[in-house]
Amino acid sequence: MRILVTGGAGFIGSHIVDRLMQAGHDVICLDNFFTGHKRNIQHWFGNPNFELIRHDITEPIRLEVDQIYHLACPASPVHYQYNPVKTIKTNVMGTLNMLGLAKRIKARFLLASTSEVYGDPEVHPQPEDYRGNVNTIGIRSCYDEGKRVAETLAFDYHRQNGVDIRVARIFNTYGPRMLENDGRVVSNFVGQALRGIPLTVYGDGSQTRSFCFVDDLVEGLIRLMNGDCIGPVNLGNPGEYTILQLAQTVQQMVNPGAELQYEPLPQDDPKRRQPDITRAQTHLGWQPTVPLEVGLTKMVEDFKQRLQIEQRLSLE
Ligand code: NAD
Ligand code: UDP
Ligand code: UDP
Repeated sequence: MRILVTGGAGFIGSHIVDRLMQAGHDVICLDNFFTGHKRNIQHWFGNPNFELIRHDITEPIRLEVDQIYHLACPASPVHYQYNPVKTIKTNVMGTLNMLGLAKRIKARFLLASTSEVYGDPEVHPQPEDYRGNVNTIGIRSCYDEGKRVAETLAFDYHRQNGVDIRVARIFNTYGPRMLENDGRVVSNFVGQALRGIPLTVYGDGSQTRSFCFVDDLVEGLIRLMNGDCIGPVNLGNPGEYTILQLAQTVQQMVNPGAELQYEPLPQDDPKRRQPDITRAQTHLGWQPTVPLEVGLTKMVEDFKQRLQIEQRLSLE
């Protein structure tokens, strides 16, 4: 098959590209390199099945493919709040363009939505029929509400135009190729522990998240794309940790000497988050298999390598 991955040079997108290339598909990676990097996909350069297009999805584009994995959108608060209006344009105009493309060429379209559509949830754990508790005017709204509109667009293109859609609600995901400086908690803690600087815990660290290793997530996305269930489907790891527990785990694993430093909790920071994955288990036969310690070890190796390259460059 010929498959388009928007945001394919990013963290999750590049892992999808790897899986699709390994399966022998023709893959088009489309990215504007806002948070993505060529280094994430450069191992495919020169392969005749791989094509890279630098393009911003807020502008229309004409391509011919069978499937579209639509991931283009900054995902970490630091990046999506850098230019919130652009984040909304990417979610709304960008998703509209990709759905228009899917409609014209009759491609199957998978939207990478997010657990953030549940906002600061009053229901725990979160099933897909929970409608969420999202602030429309807060600093996270450009992302949360942007993704909610993206889901609405997908379902309206499905009902109105018969577009073949799949909607995944992705919960916090971590693994190799996360940006060291993107502000998300796992990458912050691992980077800080490796550098021997204090791990920054926001608030008292009692807020919870559930962390899914990227290989597990990609398996879920590929099953969703190729199955019959249109979704929305939660994809995440139900293991729930407080942020303090995560900090202590990383500390013990990487650098027991590293200190913890408490900093203010950002506005609208959700207090608890844990996926109910019954739907994914039932319809996709999917559940995560990689324990946190195992996934963290792989991520630490990747970060170590990148830090060594950084140190070598700074010495030259
Ligand atoms: P990422 O920032 O690494 O990847 C996003 C990619 O999209 C980047 O390569 C970026 O350059 C590209 N991009 C951004 N705006 C674009 C535009 N206007 N045109 C073209 N390309 C553009 O983030 P990620 O963690 O890989 O997330 C990928 C997708 O998964 C996002 O849609 C995100 O909302 C969703 N998601 C991620 C998580 C997570 O924990 N990582 C959780 C929920 C949902
Ligand atoms: N679009 C695109 N590539 C295509 C087909 C459509 O980028 O191959 C864009 C198109 O420019 C429009 C959006 O997708 O902005 C929605 O397209 P649709 O056909 O649904 O709506 P219309 O063009 O009629 O407004
Ligand atoms: N967080 C933290 N220290 C950091 C970065 C994040 O304590 O250095 C907290 C943050 O306040 C939130 C949780 O970790 O409660 C997850 O943050 P992240 O930005 O990774 O994801 P999201 O809030 O979007 O789930």
